[in-house]
Amino acid sequence: MTGQGVAVSAAFDGGNIEVERCAGPEDIRLNIRADNAADFRQWFYFRLTGARGHDCTLRLLNAGACSYPGGWENYQACASVDGRTWVRVPTSYAAGVLTIPYRPPADAIYFAYFAPYSLDRHAALVAGAVAHPHVALEVPGQTLDGRDIDILRFGDGGLTAKQLWFIARQHPGETMAEWWMEGLIARLSDADDPVTAGLLAEAVCHVVPNMNPDGSARGNLRTNAGGANLNREWRDATVETAPEVFHVRAKMAETGVDFCLDVHGDEALPVNFIAGYEGIPDLATDHLALLDDYRAELAAQSPDFQTARGYPKAAAGKADLRICTSYLADRFRCLSMTLEMPFKDHDPRPDAAQGWSPARARRLAGDVLDVTYRLRGRLGRFERSGQ
Ligand SMILES: [Zn+2]
Repeated sequence: MTGQGVAVSAAFDGGNIEVERCAGPEDIRLNIRADNAADFRQWFYFRLTGARGHDCTLRLLNAGACSYPGGWENYQACASVDGRTWVRVPTSYAAGVLTIPYRPPADAIYFAYFAPYSLDRHAALVAGAVAHPHVALEVPGQTLDGRDIDILRFGDGGLTAKQLWFIARQHPGETMAEWWMEGLIARLSDADDPVTAGLLAEAVCHVVPNMNPDGSARGNLRTNAGGANLNREWRDATVETAPEVFHVRAKMAETGVDFCLDVHGDEALPVNFIAGYEGIPDLATDHLALLDDYRAELAAQSPDFQTARGYPKAAAGKADLRICTSYLADRFRCLSMTLEMPFKDHDPRPDAAQGWSPARARRLAGDVLDVTYRLRGRLGRFERSGQ
């Protein structure tokens, strides 16, 4: 304990904070730690103890030096007493410092950038899925820290069926991506769900709920245990540098890919959006049209999705083929997309209490499944333009 019995700790699964000074409830000075082997930082997750009933002022001094300072504008931190229900708490950002004034209602309270998703919960998610007879688990290899890379397979249509891939959490600090996976896996695990049954009659779904368990455990924002940003490794990954991508990519080469959705969170934009593959070489008109139609269908399906805001689209031929979405769209000429969800509140349909939340991420996954089902007849391989 330090100060007047007030202390801050992050020595647990996914924890990230450094204590610069903890002199009392009103003088808690913290820094966000960089990824263990790379200079990215933004994810924080820590526990404050010994401050029940005291007016606390927590200052994250190096917020302005984090990877996405724009992420702090209009951002409200997440807090939880029981580790299950996370609420947004008043937060301000000025002069490079993120300040959270708060009076804890209990002797221990957690603060995080977004509702954390633990490795225990990941294990339970996988165990719950494989209990269903139509679900298989493949472990094509291990991470640098020796953790299993889990790939769930739904459906037994074999290689003659369409091969649909869903992957999440290449960037471990983007925990909303694995909350999203809970929604997808709940639907795909239910063989009586008519959309699931209809889809699995024609397709096999390969699901990687957490691409980066080492980074998740270490409390990293963007990289694996060796410092690799997995979403810049798809062209070049080796088993030594990025085994997570290396092994999943090898499975994709075996099965082929007719569809892939890679699920992420975005620090700055307060909306859900899809980034695509506009910049890949030789992009055919019908290949591009399916991307636009998918976005439009999802926007029609859910008020939690929109198409007006997103990343700038790469110019023709200028795609970064190290990124999963562009790499797969180029190699397999399939519908390949990056879904981004906000860390902040969701501007088009805000929720002051929870902001963008695990529950809404789960629901959005169901909407994605419904739209994928509707467009299933158009999924597959496209020709290159000019052929
Ligand atoms: Zn990301």
